[in-house]
Amino acid sequence: MKFLDQAKIYVKSGDGGNGVTAFRREKYIEFGGPDGGNGGRGGDIVFEAASNLNTLIDFRYTQHFRARKGGNGAGSDCTGAGAETVVITVPTGTQIFDETREVLLADLDAPGKRILLCRGGDGGFGNATYKSSTNRAPRRSDAGWPGEERWVWLRLKLIADAGLVGLPNAGKSTFLSVASAARPKIADYPFTTLHPQLGVVRLSVGEELVLADIPGLIEGAHEGAGLGDRFLGHVERCAVLLHLIDGAAGNVVAAWRTVREELAAYGGGLDEKPELVALNKIDAMSPRELAARRHALEKATAAPVLVLSAASRQGVPEALRALQDRVTLAREVSARVPA
Ligand code: GDP
Ligand code: MG
Repeated sequence: MKFLDQAKIYVKSGDGGNGVTAFRREKYIEFGGPDGGNGGRGGDIVFEAASNLNTLIDFRYTQHFRARKGGNGAGSDCTGAGAETVVITVPTGTQIFDETREVLLADLDAPGKRILLCRGGDGGFGNATYKSSTNRAPRRSDAGWPGEERWVWLRLKLIADAGLVGLPNAGKSTFLSVASAARPKIADYPFTTLHPQLGVVRLSVGEELVLADIPGLIEGAHEGAGLGDRFLGHVERCAVLLHLIDGAAGNVVAAWRTVREELAAYGGGLDEKPELVALNKIDAMSPRELAARRHALEKATAAPVLVLSAASRQGVPEALRALQDRVTLAREVSARVPA
Protein backbone atom coordinates (compact mmCIF):
# COMPACT_ATOMS: atom_id res chain seq x y z
CA MET A 1 0.00 0.00 0.00
CA LYS A 2 1.20 3.45 -0.73
CA PHE A 3 0.07 6.57 0.98
CA LEU A 4 1.39 10.02 0.95
CA ASP A 5 3.08 11.19 4.06
CA GLN A 6 4.21 14.78 4.20
CA ALA A 7 5.78 17.33 6.47
CA LYS A 8 6.68 20.99 6.25
CA ILE A 9 9.96 22.04 7.79
CA TYR A 10 12.10 25.13 8.13
CA VAL A 11 15.80 24.96 7.33
CA LYS A 12 18.49 27.57 7.66
CA SER A 13 22.17 27.24 6.95
CA GLY A 14 24.57 29.09 9.22
CA ASP A 15 25.66 32.66 8.64
CA GLY A 16 29.32 33.22 7.90
CA GLY A 17 31.49 34.49 10.73
CA ASN A 18 32.62 38.10 10.69
CA GLY A 19 36.00 39.23 9.51
CA VAL A 20 37.87 41.39 11.94
CA THR A 21 40.03 44.51 11.92
CA ALA A 22 43.22 44.05 13.87
CA PHE A 23 46.87 45.18 13.75
CA ARG A 24 49.99 43.50 14.79
CA ARG A 25 51.22 45.03 18.03
CA GLU A 26 54.57 43.87 19.24
CA LYS A 27 57.44 45.35 21.11
CA TYR A 28 60.24 46.63 18.84
CA ILE A 29 58.09 46.17 15.74
CA GLU A 30 56.82 49.42 14.37
CA PHE A 31 53.89 49.60 12.00
CA GLY A 32 53.03 45.97 12.57
CA GLY A 33 50.47 45.91 9.79
CA PRO A 34 46.94 44.56 9.49
CA ASP A 35 46.41 40.99 10.65
CA GLY A 36 42.64 40.65 11.10
CA GLY A 37 41.50 37.16 10.01
CA ASN A 38 38.50 36.14 7.95
CA GLY A 39 35.28 34.72 9.41
CA GLY A 40 34.62 30.99 9.16
CA ARG A 41 31.95 29.51 6.91
CA GLY A 42 28.48 28.89 8.33
CA GLY A 43 27.20 25.32 8.57
CA ASP A 44 25.48 23.70 5.58
CA ILE A 45 22.10 21.99 5.60
CA VAL A 46 22.38 18.58 4.01
CA PHE A 47 19.72 15.90 3.53
CA GLU A 48 20.68 12.26 3.54
CA ALA A 49 18.57 9.25 2.56
CA ALA A 50 18.50 6.38 5.05
CA SER A 51 17.12 2.97 4.30
CA ASN A 52 15.99 2.04 7.81
CA LEU A 53 13.37 4.78 8.00
CA ASN A 54 9.95 4.51 6.51
CA THR A 55 7.98 7.56 7.58
CA LEU A 56 8.20 11.29 8.12
CA ILE A 57 6.75 11.00 11.59
CA ASP A 58 9.79 12.53 13.27
CA PHE A 59 9.22 15.78 11.44
CA ARG A 60 5.97 16.27 13.25
CA TYR A 61 7.98 16.79 16.40
CA THR A 62 11.01 18.63 15.04
CA GLN A 63 10.25 21.15 12.35
CA HIS A 64 13.10 23.63 12.58
CA PHE A 65 16.66 22.90 11.59
CA ARG A 66 19.36 25.53 11.86
CA ALA A 67 23.07 25.22 11.26
CA ARG A 68 25.40 27.34 13.38
CA LYS A 69 27.18 30.51 12.46
CA GLY A 70 30.83 30.36 11.47
CA GLY A 71 33.34 31.60 14.02
CA ASN A 72 34.53 35.20 13.81
CA GLY A 73 38.02 35.93 12.63
CA ALA A 74 40.65 37.06 15.10
CA GLY A 75 43.92 38.94 15.17
CA SER A 76 47.21 37.31 14.16
CA ASP A 77 45.57 36.23 10.89
CA CYS A 78 43.34 33.70 12.58
CA THR A 79 40.44 32.51 10.45
CA GLY A 80 37.25 31.71 12.35
CA ALA A 81 36.22 28.08 12.65
CA GLY A 82 33.79 26.70 10.09
CA ALA A 83 30.50 25.54 11.60
CA GLU A 84 29.37 21.95 11.40
CA THR A 85 27.05 20.69 8.72
CA VAL A 86 23.58 19.76 9.91
CA VAL A 87 22.60 16.45 8.34
CA ILE A 88 18.86 15.77 8.20
CA THR A 89 18.18 12.09 7.76
CA VAL A 90 15.08 11.20 5.78
CA PRO A 91 13.70 7.91 4.50
CA THR A 92 14.85 6.82 1.08
CA GLY A 93 12.19 7.91 -1.40
CA THR A 94 11.66 11.32 0.15
CA GLN A 95 11.19 14.20 -2.23
CA ILE A 96 11.85 17.79 -1.26
CA PHE A 97 9.56 20.46 -2.67
CA ASP A 98 9.66 24.20 -2.27
CA GLU A 99 7.14 26.06 -0.20
CA THR A 100 4.57 26.18 -3.00
CA ARG A 101 4.76 22.38 -3.23
CA GLU A 102 5.20 22.73 -6.97
CA VAL A 103 8.93 22.81 -7.56
CA LEU A 104 10.84 19.64 -6.91
CA LEU A 105 14.14 20.61 -5.33
CA ALA A 106 15.62 17.22 -4.68
CA ASP A 107 14.76 13.56 -4.91
CA LEU A 108 16.43 11.31 -2.37
CA ASP A 109 15.73 8.15 -4.25
CA ALA A 110 18.69 6.00 -3.25
CA PRO A 111 20.01 5.03 0.17
CA GLY A 112 22.98 7.12 1.18
CA LYS A 113 22.24 9.87 -1.34
CA ARG A 114 23.17 13.32 0.01
CA ILE A 115 21.93 16.67 -1.10
CA LEU A 116 23.22 20.08 -0.11
CA LEU A 117 20.09 22.16 0.15
CA CYS A 118 21.31 25.32 1.88
CA ARG A 119 24.91 26.35 1.73
CA GLY A 120 26.39 28.00 4.76
CA GLY A 121 27.28 31.68 4.32
CA ASP A 122 30.90 32.55 3.61
CA GLY A 123 32.89 34.28 6.28
CA GLY A 124 33.59 37.99 5.88
CA PHE A 125 37.09 39.18 5.04
CA GLY A 126 39.31 40.45 7.79
CA ASN A 127 41.36 43.57 7.20
CA ALA A 128 44.48 41.58 6.40
CA THR A 129 42.80 40.71 3.09
CA TYR A 130 42.49 44.37 2.15
CA LYS A 131 46.14 45.12 2.53
CA SER A 132 47.63 46.49 -0.69
CA SER A 133 50.57 48.57 -1.80
CA THR A 134 48.45 51.69 -1.67
CA ASN A 135 46.59 50.93 1.50
CA ARG A 136 48.93 49.46 4.03
CA ALA A 137 46.72 49.96 7.04
CA PRO A 138 43.17 49.16 5.91
CA ARG A 139 40.49 49.38 8.57
CA ARG A 140 37.91 47.61 6.49
CA SER A 141 36.63 44.19 7.50
CA ASP A 142 33.36 42.60 6.46
CA ALA A 143 30.53 40.89 8.25
CA GLY A 144 29.90 37.27 7.26
CA TRP A 145 27.45 36.45 4.48
CA PRO A 146 24.05 35.30 5.65
CA GLY A 147 23.05 31.66 5.37
CA GLU A 148 20.05 30.60 3.30
CA GLU A 149 16.70 29.96 4.89
CA ARG A 150 13.55 28.46 3.50
CA TRP A 151 10.50 26.36 4.22
CA VAL A 152 10.31 23.11 2.32
CA TRP A 153 7.86 20.26 2.01
CA LEU A 154 8.98 16.71 2.41
CA ARG A 155 6.91 14.08 0.71
CA LEU A 156 7.14 10.37 0.93
CA LYS A 157 5.13 7.61 -0.57
CA LEU A 158 4.47 5.57 2.49
CA ILE A 159 4.52 1.86 1.99
CA ALA A 160 2.79 -0.47 4.38
CA ASP A 161 5.10 -3.24 5.51
CA ALA A 162 2.49 -5.36 7.19
CA GLY A 163 -1.25 -5.73 6.80
CA LEU A 164 -3.90 -6.57 9.34
CA VAL A 165 -6.64 -8.90 8.17
CA GLY A 166 -9.51 -10.60 9.92
CA LEU A 167 -13.27 -10.68 10.05
CA PRO A 168 -15.12 -7.60 11.20
CA ASN A 169 -14.93 -7.39 14.98
CA ALA A 170 -11.75 -9.43 15.22
CA GLY A 171 -10.03 -6.48 16.88
CA LYS A 172 -8.01 -5.00 14.01
CA SER A 173 -8.68 -1.38 14.87
CA THR A 174 -8.00 -1.98 18.53
CA PHE A 175 -4.75 -3.76 17.76
CA LEU A 176 -3.59 -0.97 15.49
CA SER A 177 -4.31 1.69 18.07
CA VAL A 178 -2.39 -0.04 20.86
CA ALA A 179 0.49 -1.06 18.61
CA SER A 180 1.28 2.19 16.96
CA ALA A 181 3.50 4.96 18.20
CA ALA A 182 1.96 7.46 15.85
CA ARG A 183 -0.48 7.84 13.02
CA PRO A 184 0.85 9.42 9.87
CA LYS A 185 -1.07 12.27 8.40
CA ILE A 186 -2.18 10.84 5.11
CA ALA A 187 -2.94 13.10 2.26
CA ASP A 188 -5.27 12.14 -0.54
CA TYR A 189 -3.55 9.79 -2.82
CA PRO A 190 -5.03 9.26 -6.23
CA PHE A 191 -5.46 5.55 -5.73
CA THR A 192 -7.47 5.56 -2.60
CA THR A 193 -10.90 6.86 -1.99
CA LEU A 194 -11.08 4.81 1.13
CA HIS A 195 -8.35 5.26 3.67
CA PRO A 196 -7.12 2.24 5.44
CA GLN A 197 -5.89 3.06 8.89
CA LEU A 198 -2.17 3.23 9.16
CA GLY A 199 0.02 3.14 12.20
CA VAL A 200 3.73 3.34 12.72
CA VAL A 201 5.10 0.68 15.01
CA ARG A 202 8.41 1.51 16.61
CA LEU A 203 9.96 -1.31 18.57
CA SER A 204 13.33 0.32 19.03
CA VAL A 205 15.45 3.04 17.48
CA GLY A 206 15.83 2.15 13.83
CA GLU A 207 13.19 -0.55 13.94
CA GLU A 208 10.10 0.84 12.42
CA LEU A 209 7.28 -0.60 10.41
CA VAL A 210 4.10 0.67 8.89
CA LEU A 211 1.09 -1.41 9.76
CA ALA A 212 -2.12 -1.07 7.80
CA ASP A 213 -5.56 -2.07 8.95
CA ILE A 214 -7.17 -2.85 5.66
CA PRO A 215 -10.88 -2.67 6.26
CA GLY A 216 -11.92 -2.19 2.68
CA LEU A 217 -9.88 -5.07 1.47
CA ILE A 218 -11.98 -7.91 2.70
CA GLU A 219 -15.21 -6.21 3.56
CA GLY A 220 -15.30 -4.25 0.33
CA ALA A 221 -13.99 -7.01 -1.87
CA HIS A 222 -17.33 -7.93 -3.31
CA GLU A 223 -18.82 -4.49 -3.36
CA GLY A 224 -18.27 -4.08 -7.03
CA ALA A 225 -15.42 -3.36 -9.36
CA GLY A 226 -12.87 -0.68 -8.79
CA LEU A 227 -12.60 -0.29 -5.09
CA GLY A 228 -10.70 -3.46 -4.40
CA ASP A 229 -8.57 -3.48 -7.50
CA ARG A 230 -7.13 -0.12 -6.77
CA PHE A 231 -5.69 -1.45 -3.56
CA LEU A 232 -4.12 -4.48 -5.05
CA GLY A 233 -1.02 -2.96 -6.53
CA HIS A 234 -0.27 -1.37 -3.24
CA VAL A 235 -0.62 -4.35 -1.00
CA GLU A 236 2.14 -6.02 -2.92
CA ARG A 237 4.87 -4.66 -0.73
CA CYS A 238 3.37 -5.90 2.52
CA ALA A 239 5.91 -8.43 3.72
CA VAL A 240 3.53 -10.17 6.06
CA LEU A 241 -0.11 -10.32 7.09
CA LEU A 242 -1.25 -10.50 10.66
CA HIS A 243 -4.47 -12.46 10.70
CA LEU A 244 -6.47 -11.66 13.82
CA ILE A 245 -9.16 -14.02 15.00
CA ASP A 246 -11.77 -13.23 17.59
CA GLY A 247 -11.17 -15.99 20.10
CA ALA A 248 -14.27 -15.17 22.07
CA ALA A 249 -16.56 -15.73 19.11
CA GLY A 250 -16.60 -19.49 19.03
CA ASN A 251 -15.58 -21.25 15.86
CA VAL A 252 -12.13 -19.89 15.26
CA VAL A 253 -11.21 -22.31 12.52
CA ALA A 254 -14.25 -21.34 10.48
CA ALA A 255 -13.37 -17.67 10.93
CA TRP A 256 -9.85 -18.31 9.74
CA ARG A 257 -11.06 -20.27 6.70
CA THR A 258 -13.53 -17.57 5.70
CA VAL A 259 -10.83 -14.95 5.55
CA ARG A 260 -8.41 -17.27 3.77
CA GLU A 261 -11.03 -17.93 1.11
CA GLU A 262 -11.65 -14.24 0.67
CA LEU A 263 -7.96 -13.57 0.36
CA ALA A 264 -7.69 -16.22 -2.33
CA ALA A 265 -10.77 -14.91 -4.13
CA TYR A 266 -9.32 -11.45 -3.99
CA GLY A 267 -6.38 -12.45 -6.15
CA GLY A 268 -3.15 -10.59 -6.58
CA GLY A 269 -1.19 -13.17 -4.65
CA LEU A 270 -2.55 -11.94 -1.34
CA ASP A 271 -3.13 -15.44 -0.11
CA GLU A 272 0.48 -16.34 -0.80
CA LYS A 273 1.90 -13.79 1.58
CA PRO A 274 3.40 -15.01 4.82
CA GLU A 275 0.70 -15.00 7.45
CA LEU A 276 0.95 -14.87 11.21
CA VAL A 277 -2.19 -16.08 12.88
CA ALA A 278 -3.11 -14.62 16.24
CA LEU A 279 -5.95 -15.51 18.52
CA ASN A 280 -7.22 -12.26 19.99
CA LYS A 281 -9.32 -11.51 23.10
CA ILE A 282 -7.68 -14.08 25.33
CA ASP A 283 -8.85 -11.98 28.28
CA ALA A 284 -12.38 -13.05 27.41
CA MET A 285 -11.67 -16.78 27.29
CA SER A 286 -11.28 -19.41 29.96
CA PRO A 287 -7.87 -21.13 29.98
CA ARG A 288 -9.55 -24.27 28.74
CA GLU A 289 -11.23 -22.48 25.82
CA LEU A 290 -7.97 -20.80 24.97
CA ALA A 291 -6.05 -24.08 24.91
CA ALA A 292 -8.69 -25.84 22.82
CA ARG A 293 -9.08 -23.02 20.30
CA ARG A 294 -5.39 -22.50 19.94
CA HIS A 295 -4.87 -26.18 19.38
CA ALA A 296 -7.63 -26.34 16.78
CA LEU A 297 -6.18 -23.37 14.93
CA GLU A 298 -2.67 -24.73 14.98
CA LYS A 299 -3.92 -27.95 13.53
CA ALA A 300 -5.86 -26.18 10.77
CA THR A 301 -3.10 -23.74 9.88
CA ALA A 302 -0.22 -26.14 10.47
CA ALA A 303 1.69 -23.33 12.12
CA PRO A 304 2.17 -21.86 15.57
CA VAL A 305 -0.59 -19.50 16.62
CA LEU A 306 0.09 -16.38 18.66
CA VAL A 307 -2.26 -15.49 21.45
CA LEU A 308 -2.94 -11.97 22.56
CA SER A 309 -5.35 -9.47 23.92
CA ALA A 310 -5.40 -6.20 22.05
CA ALA A 311 -7.50 -4.72 24.83
CA SER A 312 -5.15 -5.60 27.68
CA ARG A 313 -2.02 -5.57 25.50
CA GLN A 314 -1.00 -8.98 26.70
CA GLY A 315 0.95 -10.71 23.91
CA VAL A 316 0.98 -7.59 21.76
CA PRO A 317 4.75 -6.92 22.05
CA GLU A 318 5.48 -10.51 21.04
CA ALA A 319 3.22 -10.24 18.00
CA LEU A 320 4.91 -6.98 16.97
CA ARG A 321 8.33 -8.54 17.40
CA ALA A 322 7.32 -11.40 15.11
CA LEU A 323 6.00 -8.92 12.53
CA GLN A 324 9.12 -6.77 12.70
CA ASP A 325 11.39 -9.76 12.21
CA ARG A 326 9.53 -10.74 9.06
CA VAL A 327 9.64 -7.20 7.76
CA THR A 328 13.35 -6.82 8.48
CA LEU A 329 14.04 -10.07 6.70
CA ALA A 330 12.00 -9.00 3.68
CA ARG A 331 13.85 -5.69 3.53
CA GLU A 332 17.18 -7.44 3.59
CA VAL A 333 16.13 -9.70 0.77
CA SER A 334 14.83 -6.84 -1.36
CA ALA A 335 18.00 -4.85 -0.71
CA ARG A 336 20.00 -7.71 -2.13
CA VAL A 337 17.81 -8.14 -5.20
CA PRO A 338 17.16 -4.70 -6.64
CA ALA A 339 13.58 -4.45 -7.85
P1 GDP B 1 -12.26 -4.68 13.89
O1 GDP B 1 -13.62 -4.71 13.29
O2 GDP B 1 -11.48 -5.89 13.49
O3 GDP B 1 -11.54 -3.42 13.60
O4 GDP B 1 -12.44 -4.81 15.47
P2 GDP B 1 -12.38 -3.69 16.61
O5 GDP B 1 -10.99 -3.34 16.94
O6 GDP B 1 -13.29 -2.59 16.23
O7 GDP B 1 -12.94 -4.51 17.85
C1 GDP B 1 -14.24 -5.08 17.87
C2 GDP B 1 -14.69 -5.19 19.29
O8 GDP B 1 -13.89 -6.10 20.02
C3 GDP B 1 -14.63 -3.88 20.06
O9 GDP B 1 -15.77 -3.78 20.88
C4 GDP B 1 -13.38 -4.02 20.90
O10 GDP B 1 -13.46 -3.29 22.09
C5 GDP B 1 -13.36 -5.50 21.18
N1 GDP B 1 -12.01 -6.01 21.41
C6 GDP B 1 -10.89 -5.82 20.66
N2 GDP B 1 -9.83 -6.45 21.19
C7 GDP B 1 -10.25 -7.03 22.32
C8 GDP B 1 -9.62 -7.86 23.33
O11 GDP B 1 -8.41 -8.13 23.30
N3 GDP B 1 -10.40 -8.31 24.34
C9 GDP B 1 -11.71 -8.02 24.42
N4 GDP B 1 -12.38 -8.50 25.45
N5 GDP B 1 -12.35 -7.26 23.50
C10 GDP B 1 -11.65 -6.78 22.48
MG1 MG C 1 -12.04 -1.80 12.39
